[in-house]
Amino acid sequence: MTALTLALGDLTREHADALVNAANSGLLGGGGVGGAIHRRGGPAILAECRALRAGRYAKGLPTGRAVATTAGDLDARWVIHTVGPVWSATEDRSALLASCHRESLRVAGELGARTVAFPAISTGVYRWPVDDAARIAVDTVRNTPTSVDEVRFVLFDERAYEAFARRIG
Ligand code: ADP
Repeated sequence: MTALTLALGDLTREHADALVNAANSGLLGGGGVGGAIHRRGGPAILAECRALRAGRYAKGLPTGRAVATTAGDLDARWVIHTVGPVWSATEDRSALLASCHRESLRVAGELGARTVAFPAISTGVYRWPVDDAARIAVDTVRNTPTSVDEVRFVLFDERAYEAFARRIG
């Protein structure tokens, strides 16, 4: 059984085997949680991201996929970068948001990570409504077979925390 837990605060202050980054396809940082991860994690993370862009992901990491790097100076062994979909009112992109969670868990399992902390992927700059994002995140984690013992959702504000708490029940 995988335990689903919740925390309110800054993902980059968490201790876990793996921290998930709500990355963009370019993998080279930016704002939001990704910016915070690179700031606190130091240059080693960016160096590995650059190497991924120079090799396997020359065109960028596709939406819904996940890839791991070192966690640099963060209190974790790995950062798992995943690219959430941008919210669309006219197109249902839920499968891609579910895929971010499934793929991140798959990568975590391959690494041997037992504890994984996720932010609320796509709910920042990508504008996904947080209640719906919580539904997709929680239901996908619950329905994905994994060797991960604990999935912790780390929410940056009370509204997101409450949305995830309601969904976990
Ligand atoms: P996206 O582009 O996938 O929407 P963002 O990083 O803009 O990614 O936002 C994703 C979520 O992460 C938002 O709910 C935002 O409030 C939250 N967030 C931003 N910084 C942090 C942080 N340091 N720790 C945890 N969550 C964060």
